[in-house]
Amino acid sequence: MSRRKLRPSFSPSAVEAEARAAEMLARVKGEARDLPGVYQMRAADGEIIYVGKSKKLRTRLLSYFRAEYPADKGARILREAAELHWEYVPTEFASLLEELKRIKRYRPRLNVAGKRDARHMAFIRVARGDAALFRVVRSSGNDETGIFYGPFHGAVQIEEALRELNDALGLRDCALDFPMHFPEQSDLFGASPRTPGCIRHEIGKCLGPCVGAVRRDEYHERFVLAQAFLEGANDVPVTALKRLMDEASGRLEFERAATLRDKIERLESLRAQFARLRFAVESLSFVYTPRAVHGDDVSYVIRRGRVRAIEPAPRTAEQRRAFDGRVAGIFAPMERTEGTVPSHEIDELLLVSSWFTRFPKEFEQTSAFAPSNATRAV
Ligand code: SF4
Repeated sequence: MSRRKLRPSFSPSAVEAEARAAEMLARVKGEARDLPGVYQMRAADGEIIYVGKSKKLRTRLLSYFRAEYPADKGARILREAAELHWEYVPTEFASLLEELKRIKRYRPRLNVAGKRDARHMAFIRVARGDAALFRVVRSSGNDETGIFYGPFHGAVQIEEALRELNDALGLRDCALDFPMHFPEQSDLFGASPRTPGCIRHEIGKCLGPCVGAVRRDEYHERFVLAQAFLEGANDVPVTALKRLMDEASGRLEFERAATLRDKIERLESLRAQFARLRFAVESLSFVYTPRAVHGDDVSYVIRRGRVRAIEPAPRTAEQRRAFDGRVAGIFAPMERTEGTVPSHEIDELLLVSSWFTRFPKEFEQTSAFAPSNATRAV
């Protein structure tokens, strides 16, 4: 696709935009320093249209003014920006966290960041309703209250494995708002509703909460069983499939036995992914004190991949005792360990895990929580 080079335009708005850009450029050249920081651009009406971060703020900001083509991201942002504001932070990690916080708060319309680490990820959403179900989704979207398992690599494999789990336990996989009819509601609906055209109940793959074929509590029990399986607490679906596989082998139905073996493998692989995820999330629990590039050192209290507190790194024995007390308070409460993540914490979990994956040496700046060694010696 050919791209048109940036040429001077003489429309009044373009002239104004160029004058504003020249003013911002002069400020950046005169004042900005190459330190970690966050910046935001406002439109003339005060709307925050873009939030960004960099470990070298000056270099990053200057790059906006070198955009060659009108379609370049920098040029598009500058055309709308009337005001540029930046702040320095102690470290690159701090800039990432601050950028995420501001993107979530302001939802700037020119930002496409924030979701970038989730591009190749998939989550399993627990969708509650009349009859709960699992859904594979690419991101938490606007759901601020949901419960998610993940992130996982490979949405297709996760979908296939989830289908096996749904089939094995008779869980529904239709639209969340599909009407459910439990038998205890029969006086409300008269005769039991007929099957709605979905054959999963007819072929024994779904308990049929839509056609009054299962009580609400029975369906719920199956759903809980599925969650327990995913969390490694029971083996019911695999045991049932193994029994069917043995029976098929006994009858010399080797093709069916092979199909059942494949189903078992998909389920076991899904559960293995859950176990790896639990391990990964649990291993992201420590106090992290990266060396500050700007200002004082800061300690991040990270539990299960989420930053629970940001504290000035203690410098004296007394400060450390007080710090340890606060950290102990954060690590003390029992937490669920099954691997679910509230939707509002997903982006932060992705940020923290991707940070330590990209820069494993940063683990050297962490310390497992214990009151006596909660922070790096300072
Ligand atoms: S049988 Fe009914 S509840 Fe089950 S998946 Fe089909 S439509 Fe949904």
